[in-house]
Amino acid sequence: MKKISLLGATGSIGIQTLDVIESHPEHFKLLAMSFGSNIKTGVDIISKFKPAFVAVKDKETYEKLKFEFSSNDIKFGYGDNALIEAAVYDRVDCLVNAVVGSVGLVPTLRAIENNITIAIANKETLVTAGHLVTEHAAKYNVKLLPVDSEHSAIFQCLQGENEKTIDRLIVTASGGSFRDKKREELHEVTVEQALNHPNWSMGAKITIDSATMMNKGLEVIEAHWLFNIPYEKIDVLLHKESIIHSLVEFQDRSIKAQLGTPDMRGPIQYALTYPDRLPLEKSKRLELWEFGKLHFEKADFNRYKCLQFAYDSGKIGGTMPTVLNAANEEAVASFLKGKIKFLQIEECIERAMDKHESIAHPGLEQIQEVDQLTRNFVQTLIS
Ligand code: NAD
Ligand code: MG
Repeated sequence: MKKISLLGATGSIGIQTLDVIESHPEHFKLLAMSFGSNIKTGVDIISKFKPAFVAVKDKETYEKLKFEFSSNDIKFGYGDNALIEAAVYDRVDCLVNAVVGSVGLVPTLRAIENNITIAIANKETLVTAGHLVTEHAAKYNVKLLPVDSEHSAIFQCLQGENEKTIDRLIVTASGGSFRDKKREELHEVTVEQALNHPNWSMGAKITIDSATMMNKGLEVIEAHWLFNIPYEKIDVLLHKESIIHSLVEFQDRSIKAQLGTPDMRGPIQYALTYPDRLPLEKSKRLELWEFGKLHFEKADFNRYKCLQFAYDSGKIGGTMPTVLNAANEEAVASFLKGKIKFLQIEECIERAMDKHESIAHPGLEQIQEVDQLTRNFVQTLIS
């Protein structure tokens, strides 16, 4: 029985993780969880799974939950410390980090220090401080298991292989909501249009990131850290069906790919069962004849500026990816609130990166400071 802590339980990955846990009650038990402030969904989850500890973002949600579950034996907490407490609660066996944003960084580091295996969906944590997370994981000999579908695909392709023989990682991209639009057509697109992803149903932030292609940029950085591969050896390939989840090319020019229907429960479950597998009966079987053809296109860096920014920031390294991530988080939040237009997201990121002098090999405090300064800068820019 694996005891699990799930951060971001009410989100898209969170709900699908709970579905996997519920499908295999003999293998998994939800011991601790966190969510932001979606109290209705939170209450449903707590009633069903009865975790021992629940962390929420703010005091108001905490008070309501304490009242709602006053007759139960469940502990509650709120704020940053509670998020950490949930991550390491009773030395769970596995932390599924499915919060959105760099708020997931410190809980991840603390869980690593407690020798807890990390199933990481929260890519912003690896982008903002990939060196800290991977160095920490190596130091404490803790496994970092990918949940992002592309990285799970690469990880699955690498089983049984010598990592020194990797020649190239090929990360596939669906192209997001605006893949059939020209750049000139993007000036006046709406939030509603941007939230309409053709293949995947995901949280709002990552859906916007897919439309700007920043999601793929973040994933390139994520792949760099998870697999220790230089940026020159990571390519992005447009593949609109999202059937091939990513590929690995080896020195002998042999390429392995991992395929499946677009269903995040596959990669989530693999991270929870690794190195074993369990049935996933609810997921649709992939029948390639239903597709007939699969399509591939070269990624255009002029069309998708955010992809270029991500490669640039990754290659510069230091605190530059922290700036990329923080500027993107702020700009996307502002776009979702209708404060800026779609193409202004990339403008915010470009201006924040232009202004920043990267600090090499930053520690946690420097990362947090740069993160905050970047958010302030973007806020000022927008207002
Ligand atoms: P989401 O917005 O649906 O859910 C986010 C969760 O985090 C919610 O439970 C929310 O309450 C919680 N949360 C947000 N801010 C918080 C805070 N400050 N403190 C505590 N909890 C907070 O997001 P999602 O789509 O599930 O994505 C989660 C992460 O997984 C992101 O990093 C995303 O990039 C990554 N990811 C998602 C998918 C997907 O299919 N949704 C696929 C691959 C990777
Ligand atoms: Mg992905």
